[in-house]
Amino acid sequence: MSDEDKSINNAADNYIKKHALKVEIALKEITPQLFSEFLIERGASQICLSCGSVDLVVPESTDLVMEGDKFIPYASPDENEIAEFGAENFVNYVTYSKIDADRTLTYSNMQYSVHCMNCGFIIHYKAANAIKWYADKKAVKG
Ligand SMILES: [Zn+2]
Repeated sequence: MSDEDKSINNAADNYIKKHALKVEIALKEITPQLFSEFLIERGASQICLSCGSVDLVVPESTDLVMEGDKFIPYASPDENEIAEFGAENFVNYVTYSKIDADRTLTYSNMQYSVHCMNCGFIIHYKAANAIKWYADKKAVKG
């Protein structure tokens, strides 16, 4: 590979990494509460589409955030850990996954899910819609 090719590759890699971090930050802004607000506002079904149960759960995750943009996956922190690191340094967000696991982390390739606790049915929502909704909501608030 020529030096020129290498530098093009590095530039592309850096661009992808930067973009992926931007997407990651946006994904982690969507708290379970915001996601539920989004679903209600959009008129999404509040019952399982398979069995009709109302026992639906949105999986959520917690990270410890260092230096504003370094996310460390954290299994539910206890009182002592919250006191040690500061509550403001933890983010709680709707667990997300890639739609196509072989593709990069982009807005259009990410999804949230809602699980039915009765029959196990899993409903998927494109994360991009919730992220866009939240961005618009923030823009209105100013
Ligand atoms: Zn169900």
